[in-house]
Order: sequence, then structure tokens, then C-alpha cells
Amino acid sequence: MDKFRVGDITVHRIEEWAGEFSPPQFLFPDYSEDIFNANVSQIVPEHYHPSSNMIVGYVQSWLLEVGGQKILFDSCSGDDKPRPGIPIFSNLRTPYLSNLEKAGFRPEDIDIVVCSHLHIDHVGWNTRQVDGQWVPSFANAKYILPRIDRSYWDPALGHASEGGRAVNQNVFEDSVQPILDLARHELVEAGHVIAEGLTLAAGPGHTPGHMFLRVQSAGERAMFVGDIMHSPMQILHPEWNSAFCEDGSAARKTRRAVIEEAAQTRALVFPAHFAGRHAVRIVEKGTGFSPVFEI
Ligand SMILES: [Zn+2]
Repeated sequence: MDKFRVGDITVHRIEEWAGEFSPPQFLFPDYSEDIFNANVSQIVPEHYHPSSNMIVGYVQSWLLEVGGQKILFDSCSGDDKPRPGIPIFSNLRTPYLSNLEKAGFRPEDIDIVVCSHLHIDHVGWNTRQVDGQWVPSFANAKYILPRIDRSYWDPALGHASEGGRAVNQNVFEDSVQPILDLARHELVEAGHVIAEGLTLAAGPGHTPGHMFLRVQSAGERAMFVGDIMHSPMQILHPEWNSAFCEDGSAARKTRRAVIEEAAQTRALVFPAHFAGRHAVRIVEKGTGFSPVFEI
């Protein structure tokens, strides 16, 4: 699905990339063959290809129309960016902007860009290259960035882990610093209200400053959770981190809390990278949780 409703809000899915992303043994450092095999029937064929042993991933933005405002949640990987840390994202040429146009929007229509965190595949379209310079892709937008991640990932401050720095090589320089230099940004913390019914919350672990977005409109709820989960396997096993989580124990705690809240509030959950229907509901099942894709 490419279009969703949450109360009075319309949500558009803007796709950048889709494909086989990683074997589960790599994506999930907590992988156990027995646990995976016991649950795999719930994620095939959309989220996992047994024939190639690959988890299927999407890189996508969520565009929310709220009142008259157009708010882009996460900005994918971007074009023409050298990414030695994750070659699959390197020097891309994708139909992202034409997909945005197909959904009915030009880059200059976007009022606000929100980056859930400052990883390679969530800030890329913040900028694009014009005459050798990185300039804002969304010429009229304010960019909302998590204050904690802005400090953590700034190479000049040296806070990021060695593994994180390798993954995120060049990312701050070409996709965040140009926005800071032009003062097009606002650094925010948990509790920041973006618009009526849209509030950012802290979701630390995947990165220290990772935020997720709670949405309430006309009695309906949604949660835009970024990289707090990469696969429905992590709804079945919230203790399974991704290989890219900076702080494993914080990431597990955040994932479980978000899953519990989604189940209790019946919120529609929009992760950054889910395949299939791309959004999911979560129900309690036994002592755990289960994904429901009939949304
Ligand atoms: Zn991501």
C-alpha cells in the first residue's frame, strides 16, 4: 500500500529502494536458527526469501499531510553519495524524486523534514548535489533533527562508536552539515510537538538520539518508529536487535516499550524498512506479541 489514513491525516509512502538486504544471520546478531525457523512462516514471502536466505528491505519515507502542512518523516539514502561503509547505499540513482512527484508532491512543497535519527538511510535526501555543492533538496523545508544525534554523529566531536562511524562514513558531512551551515534546522528533544497531534518521543538504542513520532487524529493513532524495528521477526522477538544498533540493551528496552504501547493503543505502526504492507498492527499473543498485516 502507498496511501494510508490516520484520522484526518493522509500518509503517503515514498519509496526509494527495495530488495534483498541481508541474511538474517547478519541482520540479527541475536539470531538463533531454532527461533527463526519456528517463526518464519509469519514473515514469508514478503519479508524473507527462503530460497536466497535474505531478509527483504525497503528504504522509504513517510509523507504526512496534516492540515495544510506536508511533513516528510525520514529522507532515505539520497543520490550520488559515496558510501564506503555500506556499498549497497553508495552512489545511488533512484526514482525517489519521481516517486514523490507520482504521489503528488514537488520537493519545494515539503514544509518540514523530520529525521528519526542521523543514519545513512534516514538523512540522504536532506541534500542533493548541484554544481558540486550539497544543497537542501527540499528548498522550503525546516529540518527537524534530534539534538542528541546531532552531537553524537558530528565527526568533529568524535562521540560515535568505531562501528557506527564506519557505517555512517561521509553521512554527516554531505547530508547534515550543509543543513546546519544554512541554519535550516531545528534541534529537538523528546516531547517536541511538530503539529497538532504529532509529538516526538525518545527511542534511544539504535542510535542514542533516535526518536519516534506519536500521531493522534480523530480518535485514531499511529506510531512512526524509524529503525526501532527492521523486520516483523522483532515483533515476535523484541529482544532481537539489528546489527546497526549502537546500544544493544537500550535498543531492546525501547523496542519492547514501543511494541507494548502499539498493542495497547491499537496504533498503526509505520517502520522505516518493512516490506509487505509496509505498516503493521501489533496484538498481544500469549506472553508475547504478533504482527497483523490486515490493516
Ligand atoms: Zn534505517
